[in-house]
Amino acid sequence: MSDCIFCKIVAGQIPATKIYEDDDVVAFHDIRPIAPVHFMLIPKLHVDSLAHCGPEQQVLLGKMLLLAPKLAQEQGLEKGFKTAINTGHGGGQEVFHLHVHVFGHPA
Ligand code: AMP
Ligand code: ZN
Repeated sequence: MSDCIFCKIVAGQIPATKIYEDDDVVAFHDIRPIAPVHFMLIPKLHVDSLAHCGPEQQVLLGKMLLLAPKLAQEQGLEKGFKTAINTGHGGGQEVFHLHVHVFGHPA
């Protein structure tokens, strides 16, 4: 876990453009955006992927999904946005620390 890039962002060991942070969650801009607005939501506690979540992550997952539209609106995505949770090698996951992509075009 020590070489997890997103854990390092949580710990402030590598920089990120954070747009939100609380006790459980951090949101920051994707370093390689695929849309004019592209950020991701991650839990502060390391979980490899959505497939590694269990009942103990139920509240956290709900919190992350409820934050998505709120932060999307703050980032100018009032007309709507896309979300993606790439899971596992077959799902194109590159960083094995759970994250929700939120992206789109500002109104
Ligand atoms: P994936 O695991 O396929 O959902 O993709 C991981 C995402 O993390 C990619 O969109 C990368 O651009 C993004 N990413 C990787 N390193 C960083 C970083 N240091 N800061 C922000 N985003 C990153
Ligand atoms: Zn991690």
